[in-house]
Amino acid sequence: MEPVRHGDHTAVDVVVVGAGVTGLYQLYRAREAGFSATLLEAGDGVGGTWYWNRYPGARFDSESYTYGYLFSPELFEEWEWREHFAEQPETEGYLNHVVDRFDLRRHVRFGCRVTSAVYDDETGTWTVVVDDGSALRARFVVAATGVLSVPCFPDVPGREAFEGESYHTGLWPATPVELAGKRVAVVGTGSSGVQVIPTIADAVSSLTVYQRTANWCTPLNNAPITPEEQRALRAGFESMRETLNTSPHGFLHEPHDRATFDDSAEERSAFFEKMWNSPGFSKLTSNYTDLLFDEAANAEWCDFVAGKIRGIVDDPETAEKLIPKNHRFGEHRPPFVTGYFETYNKPNVSLVDLTQAPMVRITARGIETADGERELDVIIWATGFDFGTGALMRMGIQGRDGLLLTDHWANGPKTLLGVQTTRFPNLFFPGGPHAAAGNNPRYNGDQVDFVTDLIVYARDHGHSTIEAEPAAEDDWTGMIDRGAQRSPSFGESSYYFGANIPGKPRKYLLNSAGRPKLHAMVAEEKASHYKSFIFF
Ligand code: NAP
Repeated sequence: MEPVRHGDHTAVDVVVVGAGVTGLYQLYRAREAGFSATLLEAGDGVGGTWYWNRYPGARFDSESYTYGYLFSPELFEEWEWREHFAEQPETEGYLNHVVDRFDLRRHVRFGCRVTSAVYDDETGTWTVVVDDGSALRARFVVAATGVLSVPCFPDVPGREAFEGESYHTGLWPATPVELAGKRVAVVGTGSSGVQVIPTIADAVSSLTVYQRTANWCTPLNNAPITPEEQRALRAGFESMRETLNTSPHGFLHEPHDRATFDDSAEERSAFFEKMWNSPGFSKLTSNYTDLLFDEAANAEWCDFVAGKIRGIVDDPETAEKLIPKNHRFGEHRPPFVTGYFETYNKPNVSLVDLTQAPMVRITARGIETADGERELDVIIWATGFDFGTGALMRMGIQGRDGLLLTDHWANGPKTLLGVQTTRFPNLFFPGGPHAAAGNNPRYNGDQVDFVTDLIVYARDHGHSTIEAEPAAEDDWTGMIDRGAQRSPSFGESSYYFGANIPGKPRKYLLNSAGRPKLHAMVAEEKASHYKSFIFF
């Protein structure tokens, strides 16, 4: 492969976009493989999701040690997570530690938002332009721009007219936000909203929660990691890594071996109690085997959770509003909470059910619903993201013959292994659409490893261009779409199908094939000298 030489210092082998968990690992792998690489990051610091989502209460809901990097035993050895589910500042600190530990910072340019990335058919290189007008030439572009990086605001009239303070959870300022003693609204009760709500409730003078869809929230069951647990984690690193690298969704939790109605009502109730008290995602991954496949089984668990909500929330009317009525457990991404339902027992907290009193407009002083106006000092929009394709579609990406990615994917994304799409040679997007369905860093790390091996293979074999083979892309995308139809979880009404963005094609955006299939295909590609890719 010819090195990229254009007589200026802005030419590199690899441009990585995005300093999140995936982009930093890609930078590390590219440098380790001997490529020159520059990482462009829109923010002023590293972290990606864990840089932008610094709202009060933001924390992991996958176990900290299963979410961090596993490529370096030394890194694992020297970093002590304080809690089983770390808070945002700890994660941001960890990612800064990684950047310095592996001397990556000097390859990162902060405050650079990519405005276009254009492929040149003549030279087989990409020109990446950032918002300060500067440009970089690269052989390879790896857009590690994430799936949850474009915050969205609802289309409610008057949003700009509000004279108080407004924040989106996904764009939370790095400077302190003073909420104490203020009249605060939180709009949205997804995973972000339900973390903010209990965290700020005591400090604010009043908290009004605007809920459109209730969610099946269950306890996170977080705790500090004890010294004994720290020692056990270190001693068990290799076996934990093995489990995480071979588990279907990148979690440690053991799957259960019984179906719901294998147990008597009494046994079931005891098992559900155990689930309720188990950490994070185990309610999904270690529950009865038929939880997501059998409506009656799912209803048993939902009835149990509904009973818990009724038991916690003092006001029966509020409790009923907090119990989902229009979807089963697992149909939307379940949030995991700490003290969430208890928050509604506080005298300064109230719940507005937008299905009964829809939002009419934002006024200069507050929020008006069909029931009237509430005056507010602060509105927190916890209203989600343009998931999966949002960032890639806003990056001005042009492939062969000037083809825009926005046109190529007008009917939804088509990918090969969730890393490349036809007619966009040498562009890769690990951790993007069709990438993951579980513990993201685990899947995304697999994809970064694959991309790195692929570009090393091209270099070692004298190829300068790598492009997805169209039939292989059709096969992979068809498998993802068919799998999504069969999949009982994360249904069409969820943002995993783009349902939260008006006009967005309803296409599955996760990897419905799962991680074992991804591993099998990666192994097949390597063994066959990357038969699904065309090299020039
Ligand atoms: P989300 O799950 O998409 O939730 C958005 C919320 O805003 C929903 O309750 C939604 O209601 C509501 N909403 C949207 N438009 C609205 C409108 N016009 N009027 C009223 N309400 C509206 O977004 P998120 O909570 O930011 O979470 C996104 C994802 O980020 C999560 O699923 C998870 O993958 C990740 N996350 C992870 C963690 C963690 O613990 N590690 C924490 C936070 C987030 P509807 O449901 O009715 O649309």
